[in-house]
Amino acid sequence: MPDDSYATHEVLNQPGDLAGYNAYADDAALAGAAAALGAGDVGGRFADCGALVGSRRVQALASAANRHVPELRTHDRYGNRIDEVEFHPAWHELMGLIRGSEVHSLAWRERRRGAQFDRAVLSYLWNQGENGVCCPASMTFAGIAALRHDPALLARYQERILATGYDPRPLPPAAKPALVVAMAMTEKQGGSDLRQTQTVARPESAAAGPGADYRLTGHKWFFSVPIADLFLTLACTEKGVSCFLAEGWLADGNRNHLLLQRLKEKCGNRSNASAEVEFRGLRAVMLGEEGRGIATILEMAHLTRLECALSSAAIARQAAAQAVHHTAHRRAFQRVLADQPMMQGVLADLALESEALTWLALRVAAALDAGEAGDEAARALSRIGVPVAKYWACKRAPGVVAEALECHGGNGFIEDHPLARLHREAPLNGVWEGAGNVICLDVMRALGREPACRDAVLAELGAARGADPRLDAMAARLAEALARPALPEGEARRWVETMALALTASVLLRHAPTAVAEAYCRARLGGEGGLAYGTLPAGTDTGAIIARLAAQS
Ligand SMILES: Cc1cc2nc3c(=O)[nH]c(=O)nc-3n(C[C@H](O)[C@H](O)[C@H](O)COP(=O)(O)OP(=O)(O)OC[C@H]3O[C@@H](n4cnc5c(N)ncnc54)[C@H](O)[C@@H]3O)c2cc1C
Repeated sequence: MPDDSYATHEVLNQPGDLAGYNAYADDAALAGAAAALGAGDVGGRFADCGALVGSRRVQALASAANRHVPELRTHDRYGNRIDEVEFHPAWHELMGLIRGSEVHSLAWRERRRGAQFDRAVLSYLWNQGENGVCCPASMTFAGIAALRHDPALLARYQERILATGYDPRPLPPAAKPALVVAMAMTEKQGGSDLRQTQTVARPESAAAGPGADYRLTGHKWFFSVPIADLFLTLACTEKGVSCFLAEGWLADGNRNHLLLQRLKEKCGNRSNASAEVEFRGLRAVMLGEEGRGIATILEMAHLTRLECALSSAAIARQAAAQAVHHTAHRRAFQRVLADQPMMQGVLADLALESEALTWLALRVAAALDAGEAGDEAARALSRIGVPVAKYWACKRAPGVVAEALECHGGNGFIEDHPLARLHREAPLNGVWEGAGNVICLDVMRALGREPACRDAVLAELGAARGADPRLDAMAARLAEALARPALPEGEARRWVETMALALTASVLLRHAPTAVAEAYCRARLGGEGGLAYGTLPAGTDTGAIIARLAAQS
């Protein structure tokens, strides 16, 4: 026992963890969006997932998995090449939990209207828990979109891809009940410009083309989840860059002729492994049309881009919730921080931004859902809305996190705190699945090639016509711009930003409480807010906006 006579101090005024809350039920914005845009929490699935994500258990696992990062094992003790990755047990436990939540599978397993949307809500929730495991969950989910190009391959793997179990054993897919999917496209000379792919594919026999067996030789500079059971990749044939599906291990138990050269030492997403890899005769099957590999794999990327939007909205939400919690339990100058007028302005601004990103991402998820069900207008809205939401959420989330970190004072900058992890995580969504400029070029491409995309955006804005003069004015400017034959590439960011703001305002005005929608329109559309957070216009109902996530604190 320490001698109390030498006690240096009492620990006072430290808020403690935000833990033991329900990330769904205690978030009025999320529950409101789920009810308005989907069918709400049917069967209590969201609340179960929300309780798990908000639990001390997941937080402890997340902390451990990010502190004890994966290690590459190139050889066994006898010198045999094994190319495996060793993870902390927390990673495997988290993988089991996220698979159990069906983030990877719900949308395809429950073939009903609303299943895509519900899966998006689950993904949003898990992105507030631990982002590393969200990467394999997202790619496993999205891989189904590409596999649909080959019904035979889909039939071979689908059931085990969608299984709720998790099996980390390094075995060939045929020997496993549950499979994880990844994708490896990026090479050293170009990640955005995939036409520069150097990896070559040669047919194993005279039978070439879709469904045929090939051997691939080359490298990939970024390959996240290199322990995946299946992965999609790109390689050149005589007809151009084509898409291939490969198994991680062969039937004889050996690695599929791939060498893991190095694991990336990443700034964020540290629990997850990302490798540099060489293919030395990798066995793979051509997936989809020969020479159209980028288009095939981009169908997968469309879904992972939605994941980036959901993830960034979730990261912003978690950061804002942490800030509300901390300031509600911390005093300075004899007063609770959250009661200080300036802090209220900051918290309200963070809550507003995170709520707005949430509605935008989920609105796009609802469009994807309806599009999958055959609604063509919704499909067009999803086609353009996904990159718009991805671009915007990825741009906004890091700023929200930085400001939320500042609300914590020094504690927020220390690795023990989830804010430090969020701070390193937030910029990543802006890079992978296409960095900002590339995403804006994709929006321009959609507008140029598919007039239905422009119509879908304008219809979405028209649905809120008359609700706010600022949105009406912005919609008119957009209608005029989108009527031009083509927008200059140099203006792409400005127009994508305008679309994001207008689409967000439209969904907020139709479905969110007046305090939220009005503050958003005034501050973000009407120019009444400042550039830094904490500069909402005078008269904003900050209490009502903060209360939308204060139940968690
Ligand atoms: C942690 C992590 C994990 C990853 N995991 C994977 C993975 O599993 N599989 C995989 O395939 N890849 C993965 N990547 C790679 C990622 O997808 C690429 O880094 C990304 O697509 C950008 O490619 P690049 O790095 O080659 O950058 P570049 O293509 O060189 O782009 C650099 C910059 O130039 C901009 N730019 C490009 N073209 C234009 C243009 N025409 N006009 C204006 N600006 C332009 C881009 O927006 C970007 O800002 C991962 C990356 C990270 C950081």
